[in-house]
Amino acid sequence: MRIVFIGPPGAGKGTQCRRLAEYLDVPHLSTGEMLRQTREDSSLGKLVASYIDNGQLAPDNLVVPIVTKRLAEPDCRDGCLFDGFPRTVNQAEMLDQYLVDDGDPLDLVIHLDVPEDELIGRLLRRAEIENRADDTREAIAKRL
Ligand code: ADP
Repeated sequence: MRIVFIGPPGAGKGTQCRRLAEYLDVPHLSTGEMLRQTREDSSLGKLVASYIDNGQLAPDNLVVPIVTKRLAEPDCRDGCLFDGFPRTVNQAEMLDQYLVDDGDPLDLVIHLDVPEDELIGRLLRRAEIENRADDTREAIAKRL
């Protein structure tokens, strides 16, 4: 089962993916999480942080190899949930091609739609709980 979750920041993609991943017993691939880890682990860290902290998308040539490397790992063989990927047309085309080549195309795309006022309230609350630098009012405004 390969499912893409799309929706704005704060829509609940991460929350729903975590629940469904447990239920289906498949990995939950969050590009936001992967990028935050890259930021801590490698020399790419500063570059990644500069995008995330400004509320900008990281470039495709940085994100795509991270996702394809993860997809090639054995635990993704029976399926996975995509949270935060794809976010650009280029990423969508790349994912489509990768999955078709792999003989295992997407099963479903789930779009979570939430009113903007509610999103802003959720993100400001998340900023307090998770201490995320990209959940300031300015960075949120750029992402919505
Ligand atoms: P949010 O849903 O609040 O945007 P995420 O954890 O999904 O939170 O993403 C955090 C940040 O990571 C994004 O603002 C962006 O800078 C970067 N990011 C996540 N996914 C992608 C992606 N597919 N392409 C480019 N940048 C991404």
